[in-house]
Amino acid sequence: MERKIRASIGSLGALGMRDIKLPAPPTTIYLMVGERCVYDCAYCSQAVNSKGSVEQLSRVVWPAVEWQELKDAVKDAPSFIKRVCFQVVNSRGCLEDVLFFIREIKDVSSLPVSVSIRVTRMEDLEKLFEAGVERVGVALDVATETTFSKYRGGDFKKAVDLILYAGELFKGRVTTHIIVGMGESDKELHGVMKKMFNNGITVGLFAFTPIKGTCLEGEAPPSLRRYRRIQLMRYLLSKRVEFLPEFDRKGNLISMETARRVTLVPGTSVTLLGGWAAGDMVLTSGCAGCNRPYYNEKPLGPMFNYPLPPKEVAEKIIGAFVESEEDIDKEKVRIRFKV
Ligand code: SF4
Repeated sequence: MERKIRASIGSLGALGMRDIKLPAPPTTIYLMVGERCVYDCAYCSQAVNSKGSVEQLSRVVWPAVEWQELKDAVKDAPSFIKRVCFQVVNSRGCLEDVLFFIREIKDVSSLPVSVSIRVTRMEDLEKLFEAGVERVGVALDVATETTFSKYRGGDFKKAVDLILYAGELFKGRVTTHIIVGMGESDKELHGVMKKMFNNGITVGLFAFTPIKGTCLEGEAPPSLRRYRRIQLMRYLLSKRVEFLPEFDRKGNLISMETARRVTLVPGTSVTLLGGWAAGDMVLTSGCAGCNRPYYNEKPLGPMFNYPLPPKEVAEKIIGAFVESEEDIDKEKVRIRFKV
């Protein structure tokens, strides 16, 4: 019997397997292995108790296609495709299945491969790396002890330790995903992201997205203003720019001070935070080449993660989270946020 695999609709468009308009094509081919997870994350349409469609993950539709056809298309993928990522839905036999698909892709393509998977044993990660995977994504998703047990289930500390241990064993090859807007504070997000980056783990940020059929379908996504603050912290941590954040009693980030002054917006006089190139911080984050278009957002916005450098100038993005340029104290390299 011919094997099938699910691929995100954007990936099929990018590979020429579907005739769809792509305002921003994916630069990674996203494939889904397994269906209806054994776990029960309250925000996921693939969770065991979700009433959401099995064709869906976050906002995206993933039609099933013939594996051979997909493999042939990946072999001749256009040059803007930079990576293949397998999203593993933890169901019976999923590890064997993904290992099969990885080996087949490695036979026909030199594109780097990522696998996003929920694991409990390092042996499983070893098997993936042995099969030729470049990076693994081990999602934390939910950033605090209480919200983790409430929305994801299981032991938060163990989940963090497992990711840190994976990062130690497989240096520079581990990514984690964190969702903003699950009831955590800015301060808590800062703490957990810092821990990850300090241990060599890349953080991919996502905005909570209410999905029909899930337990959290009626909840609201985070505000764009808040998401930008978190993106800014993530960006600075990823670039190893030292900064001193100040939080209010509720844990909201209200200001930050950086250790050095560099051009904030190239070609302008706005100098504030180290290493900022206009708009970089709002791009989708995670493994190199991963842009996940419209995973969290409708094509018309609001845009949490930009799949391509945004058209808006950096000043406009800054304007989304400070009152005015006067809030940017250029002398002290300090920025105050509207919360
Ligand atoms: S960051 Fe992107 S490429 Fe990397 S594991 Fe996550 S979804 Fe896949």
